[in-house]
Order: sequence, then structure tokens, then C-alpha cells
Amino acid sequence: AKKAGRNNFQIYTHALNAALTERVTLEYNLRQAIELEEFILHYQPKVDFTTGKVCGAEALIRWQPEGQDLISPLKFITIAEETGLIETIGEWVIATACYKAKALQQKTGQYVPIAVNVSPRQFRQSNLANTIKKILAVTQLDPSYLELEITENTLIDDSSKFIETLHSLKKIGVKLAIDDFGTGYSSLAYLKDFPIDRLKIDKVFVSSIEEDPKNKAILKAIVVLGKSLGIAVIAEGVETQYQYDYLKSIDCDQLQGYYYSKPLPEQQFEQLLLNQIES
Ligand code: C2E
Ligand code: CA
Ligand code: CA
Ligand code: CA
Repeated sequence: AKKAGRNNFQIYTHALNAALTERVTLEYNLRQAIELEEFILHYQPKVDFTTGKVCGAEALIRWQPEGQDLISPLKFITIAEETGLIETIGEWVIATACYKAKALQQKTGQYVPIAVNVSPRQFRQSNLANTIKKILAVTQLDPSYLELEITENTLIDDSSKFIETLHSLKKIGVKLAIDDFGTGYSSLAYLKDFPIDRLKIDKVFVSSIEEDPKNKAILKAIVVLGKSLGIAVIAEGVETQYQYDYLKSIDCDQLQGYYYSKPLPEQQFEQLLLNQIES
């Protein structure tokens, strides 16, 4: 038994070392990726249920090391957050999205808001509002076309500094959306206290309505909540005709999901906006 215990210990430390090495390597590679500007944004259309038209997009980061396949944000955002690299990466995301939003307006004549994901640590950055202000000034984008997606967990922090940031952002005129709505740990009180423009219903509720009718009740309740507070509601992860029909029937405002389109490279998103003018 003693021997086995020792073997387990060796296996355990070996696994730990491997995990640690992987982390350190990933962090090192991420720093390089920032230097080499190896990130790109894809844009996933948001569609208005009433008009059936594209009414915005969410910018989603991908990492493209030279000569390799795209790497999903799920593989590197957590470590970027833990190491603080998210502050640099996040600033790049906001600047790139604003620049693109402006370019799209000029090229297509269509004015659609672009949303970016802002992680909790990035949100707590002392100078976030100022950084955004500068980016808007440089890109000449009207602030109302930039939307920040934050999760409910970001809102758990209700320090005065945090509330100050929220209000500075509102004053600048950018929009604020609650991402993954319904999955966080904060109370709903923020809905009345904070200037929120949009609720994004998390895809876990949408994806399982066929199997679990309780999720229908949840979707409906969120839509009603949004309506009564004057906050637009968008459902994410919409994949099937069934989900689309149900969300339309309960008067949900917008949808995002593979049902309409997956996230697109910028050229394709631009083409989609151009095609929409003709149709
Ligand atoms: P999220 O903000 O909840 O973004 C939605 C994710 O769902 C995206 O995954 C999108 O591609 C995926 N999705 C869209 N439609 C469907 C659908 O119909 N079905 C399914 N199953 N999935 C769908 P993606 O691009 O891999 O991003 C994953 C997460 O990484 C994002 O979740 C977000 O939390 C984070 N992320 C992405 N880009 C950024 C960024 O620039 N900054 C930060 N801080 N986080 C980011
Ligand atoms: Ca999001
Ligand atoms: Ca989400
Ligand atoms: Ca999510």
C-alpha cells in the first residue's frame, strides 16, 4: 500500500508539473501573440425579430498563430484574465471593433452597433472609461454604436469605484448589455440601479427548450421582465426553427445564433450588410 501511495504521489506531481508547464507556455505564447498582433475578430450578426434584418454584431476574438488554425477564446481568455494580459488584449479588441464599426458605416451606409466582451478584470481597470473615450475620439465612432457586454458576475462588485466606472461609461454614451443573463450569482437589483440597455439570455435556456419546457417559462419571464423595464432582450445560441418560432411568439426583440449565422470573418460580415441593402 505504501508503494502504491508513493506511485500515486509521483503521478500526481507529474500531472501537476505538466499542467504548470502548459500554463507557463501558454502565458509566454500569449505575450508573443500580443507582440506579433496575432489576434483577429469575427463578427456574429444579431437579427431583429420584427424586421428580420441584421441590427448589430458581437465581436468575438480568435487567435491565429502564423500558419496554424484559429484558436478559440475558450482556450486563452481565462489565462489572459488571470495574468492580467486581458487588459492589453481587451484594449486591442475595443479599438479594433470601433475602427471596424466606423469603417462599416462608411462602406455600407448601414449603422449597426458592435458589441465587445469586457471581462470582470478589464472592467475593474482604473482607466477603462478613459481608454474607451480616447478610442472613440480616435476612430470617430459615435459612442452609441459601441456596446459593452458584461456578465452578471462583473456586477457583484458594487464598490463605489465600480459604480463610478458604470456611470462614466453611460455619460460617454456607450451601451451596456448583460451577457449570459440568468446564469450569474448577483441579485436582480442592479436592473433598477444600473443603466442597462440590453439583456442577453444565455444559450443554456435556449438550447434545451425542446427537452425541458421549464426553460420556455424562463425565456418568457425574461422577455416580460425586459419589456416592463424598457430593456431590449436578445436570445443567444438560437440554432433551430423551433427555438426561433418560440422566441418570436413570446415577442423577444432580437436573436443571435447559428440559426441565422455563425460568427463571420470581417469581409463576410461586411458583404452581409451590403447584400441587405439590396434586398
Ligand atoms: P459569449 O460572450 O457568451 O459568446 C457567445 C459564444 O457562443 C461564442 O463563442 C459564439 O461563437 C457562440 N455561439 C454563437 N451562436 C451559437 C449557437 O447558435 N450555438 C452555440 N452552441 N454557440 C453559439 P466563442 O466565439 O467561442 O466565444 C466564447 C467565449 O469567449 C465568449 O462567450 C466570451 O465569454 C469569450 N470571448 C470571446 N471574445 C472575447 C473577447 O474579445 N474578450 C473577452 N473578454 N472574452 C471574449
Ligand atoms: Ca458575449
Ligand atoms: Ca453570452
Ligand atoms: Ca458565455
